[in-house]
Amino acid sequence: MNGLIMDYPLTTNTILKYANNAFPDKKLISYLPDGSRHEYTYGKLYKRCCQLANALKNKLGITKGDMVGTFAWNHYQHVELYYGIPGIGAVCHTINIRLSSQQTEFIINHSEDKVIFVDATLVPLLEKIAPKLETVEKYIIINAPKGYTTTLPNTIHYEDLIGEQLDAIEWPTINENDASGMCYTSGTTGMPKGVLYSHRSTYLHAMTILSPNAGNYSNNDIILLVVPQFHVMAWGFPYMCLLTGSDMVMPSLHLRPDAIIRILESENINKANGVPSIWRGVYEEMKKNPPKTKLALEEYLVGGSALSGSLIENFEKDFGIKGVQAWGMTETSPLGTASRLQRKHESLSYKEQIKVRAKQGIEFPGIEMRIIGDNGKVAPRDGKTMGELQVKGAWVIKSYFKTNSRDSFTKDGWFRTGDVSTIDANGYMEITDRTKDLIKSGGEWISSVALELALMSHANIKEAAVIAIPDEKWSERPLATLVLADKNKHVSTEELKEFLSKEFASYQIPDNYVVIDEVPKTSVGKFDKKEIRRLYAEGKL
Ligand code: ADP
Repeated sequence: MNGLIMDYPLTTNTILKYANNAFPDKKLISYLPDGSRHEYTYGKLYKRCCQLANALKNKLGITKGDMVGTFAWNHYQHVELYYGIPGIGAVCHTINIRLSSQQTEFIINHSEDKVIFVDATLVPLLEKIAPKLETVEKYIIINAPKGYTTTLPNTIHYEDLIGEQLDAIEWPTINENDASGMCYTSGTTGMPKGVLYSHRSTYLHAMTILSPNAGNYSNNDIILLVVPQFHVMAWGFPYMCLLTGSDMVMPSLHLRPDAIIRILESENINKANGVPSIWRGVYEEMKKNPPKTKLALEEYLVGGSALSGSLIENFEKDFGIKGVQAWGMTETSPLGTASRLQRKHESLSYKEQIKVRAKQGIEFPGIEMRIIGDNGKVAPRDGKTMGELQVKGAWVIKSYFKTNSRDSFTKDGWFRTGDVSTIDANGYMEITDRTKDLIKSGGEWISSVALELALMSHANIKEAAVIAIPDEKWSERPLATLVLADKNKHVSTEELKEFLSKEFASYQIPDNYVVIDEVPKTSVGKFDKKEIRRLYAEGKL
């Protein structure tokens, strides 16, 4: 028997309409690529989304199911695209601006984007590949300065496109399971693969992010969205902020630590998101040049790679700013877990609490996770047994876009994350490694992540990336590449071994350490293990 409740589709349109009714005065503030500050209200955002939706239909001929690409920074126009495109049933395909030309060309041809909205500062990246883009009919240029010219064919300026359109629309009824957005994985393990989100998954994911066990956001918050909108629908924040009525602040390309600090100061930001390397940079800059008055920033939510206990502790002790760790993947919309303390943790010492907070955390309602051990069975939740993390849930992929996905799923329908993890008795998951990054030495597994986090807690180590190098006797040994905080202060191999021996068994401690200028990073700021392995191939230093 069906329940007697209305069939109210969970779509991005309902989010937009809700914010227009409930929070018309809330603000969307953007620091645009040219350095200027732009501000308007959610009421105005609603009107401009209507104009954009009308323009997509009337001027560009976009219809239901069409792919519409965006190649842009974080700003109000990109938020308009997040709503205007799915609002008429088309798919908002955010293209990662930091991929290689070859990957970008592949993604655009594979997704069959019909039009692309591109920031003027990013146009040169598309000009190089435009002749090879098979399906793109038009390019819409955002934030173009006066007299702007480009070699891209068939261009229209964004304001000219939406300018004369009506600022009201009868939004079409959309099935909540229809596609609303698409993002390709960043291709750390091969060519990028497309993940197609639905209206329903986008809505439920955003509702989860705002909840107290996750981000804990409300209409009292002013949030800086550092996570780029070209990556994983920017973790759902552009949708979540309209559901909560939080003010949203967008930095576009102003992502250097000093620029972020200036925005934090001038906008009175109290919450923010980003990958750990961004917040490590902000912390180091604040240590060097402490802000004159205490920042309003209370909390930063981190995901994408491991937030170390040492950064959580230092940021909190020195500036009273709290780091919260979350875990996710493009394939999981992305957020699946977060780590916050519970009442039962109150009796723990501060150090023990930090250890809990440095885990990836408990799953959100709507997500299930399990670990499959080496014996192929579900591992106990004992905090010790390692194995592959598998997930399922209301915003987890069931197949890649136009790609054979069989190997990514188990026979009983779980998504194989490729992460190696443990889950403890309290349900806190901890990532040990990516499957391919684990080091197997003399038959024993060594976690590169654990070594990296320990090394980065050393006072003179800014960054540490650990890889496996071939070894005749042990088959593999760990090698640590290090970036020193103070290049003039030498750190000896003996000192490092001694430092690690407090936490690690002797077979786990690397014998080889190489000081480098910078750890190579992927398009989304993670350690690029593929590149590090290439540079130090076969253990040659
Ligand atoms: P890609 O899979 O293309 O590298 P994603 O952004 O989807 O790009 O990366 C997902 C991966 O990032 C996860 O599988 C995991 O290995 C890593 N990751 C994400 N969040 C965390 C975290 N908090 N701690 C450690 N690793 C993380």
